[in-house]
Amino acid sequence: MKNDYDIIVVGAGPAGSVAARYAAQRGVSVLLLEKESKPGAFVRCGEAVNKNKLKEFINPDPDWISSTINSFSLIAPDGCEITLQFDEEGYILDRTLFDYRLALSAIDEGAELLSDAYVYDLIMDDGIVRGVRVETGSRRLDLKSRIVIAADGVGSRIGRFAGISTFIDYRDMECCVQVTASGVNYINGNSCYFYFGKRYAPEGYVWVFPKGSNTANIGVGISGYAGKSRSASVYLKNFIDNYYPGIKIIKKIAGGVPSTATLKQIISPGIMLAGDSARQVNPLSGGGIISGMTAGSIAGRIAAESVLLNQPDHIRAYQTEWHSRLGKKHEIYNLIKKGVFNFDDTRLNSIAKTFREVPPGKRSLGRLFCTALINNPSLLPEVAKVFVV
Ligand SMILES: Cc1cc2nc3c(=O)[nH]c(=O)nc-3n(C[C@H](O)[C@H](O)[C@H](O)COP(=O)(O)OP(=O)(O)OC[C@H]3O[C@@H](n4cnc5c(N)ncnc54)[C@H](O)[C@@H]3O)c2cc1C
Repeated sequence: MKNDYDIIVVGAGPAGSVAARYAAQRGVSVLLLEKESKPGAFVRCGEAVNKNKLKEFINPDPDWISSTINSFSLIAPDGCEITLQFDEEGYILDRTLFDYRLALSAIDEGAELLSDAYVYDLIMDDGIVRGVRVETGSRRLDLKSRIVIAADGVGSRIGRFAGISTFIDYRDMECCVQVTASGVNYINGNSCYFYFGKRYAPEGYVWVFPKGSNTANIGVGISGYAGKSRSASVYLKNFIDNYYPGIKIIKKIAGGVPSTATLKQIISPGIMLAGDSARQVNPLSGGGIISGMTAGSIAGRIAAESVLLNQPDHIRAYQTEWHSRLGKKHEIYNLIKKGVFNFDDTRLNSIAKTFREVPPGKRSLGRLFCTALINNPSLLPEVAKVFVV
């Protein structure tokens, strides 16, 4: 291993591995650092992704696909269920294997990977990031680089070390708890289920994502505000006791999802933030796998260009490109999220009831939005923008 690289990427999650791959593809030297024993060793995720968007980054492989999704079932607080069929399939991944393979794809392009390598500080020189300080086993190393890409997830500290404000309002940090369970019978193994309402998921939703062989990820995400009075764990237990009693819990995880617009600043001299660390998550759905990979692909490419052109300032292009690719949309989704969170159970029930009148073949997310809008016309200008941008 060298002690000087063109680009060092911190964190081998979806954002970091894609960033490392896109940079290495351009012939610069890249080191990917992961604090766990290997990429994918510790993941917290419902594992749902859109198939077509995923294919932009990696060819689907049955090894890391747990199930294929072709419909959504949305369940209102009064139990009224709406099913939406999709042509576009989605997947429920096995992220442990997926993250591992994604990191391998970066190595295939020439990136080096060091696992068990915890970045505990940055090397700074006059406000410019010049590398990272790493703890690996009992050793401490200083590794220099021309650019650091911080893809260290929702609990990111690297951005803060560089002086970037990574503050997030606690209301926007969705508190999530999820179990993977077996014995989840009576669900369609190709459908994702979403439950809404104050009883089980105030300012959020409960998800049930099938993983094959009667197993599923069952989780709840509630706003940090709602989580102050009762924990997400309690909401999830009540939900399971009511809807899926008797299931066998295999695994339980908890984590935060930064459900808000992207940070105002995602670059600083010598450093770029990508993925959850930059709050690049779809605020409406809480999905961050595709957004993270999109951000990683832009960050990795632009970082390599900056090195090859010998123009440190070129990394500014990342902020602009992200904003036009997804950042602007996320700002609008964030406004819609705030509107939707204000719907009370009566309104949600009424939307579901109205939408149920739509014949199954004519149901679409767009039509569901229209129904929701009839119930809350003040959202109209924001929703209109989603379809224009
Ligand atoms: C309960 C839950 C359910 C979710 N469900 C979905 C879903 O169904 N679909 C979806 O799209 N998104 C979902 N998300 C969000 C999604 O998991 C994240 O948005 C996504 O993983 C972000 O990718 P990332 O690469 O930015 O960060 P991460 O995947 O968190 O990767 C960060 C990596 O950095 C490493 N790391 C951290 N600090 C350091 C350090 N100092 N030094 C070295 N390495 C470090 C970590 O070990 C990790 O491997 C969910 C999140 C939660 C909590």
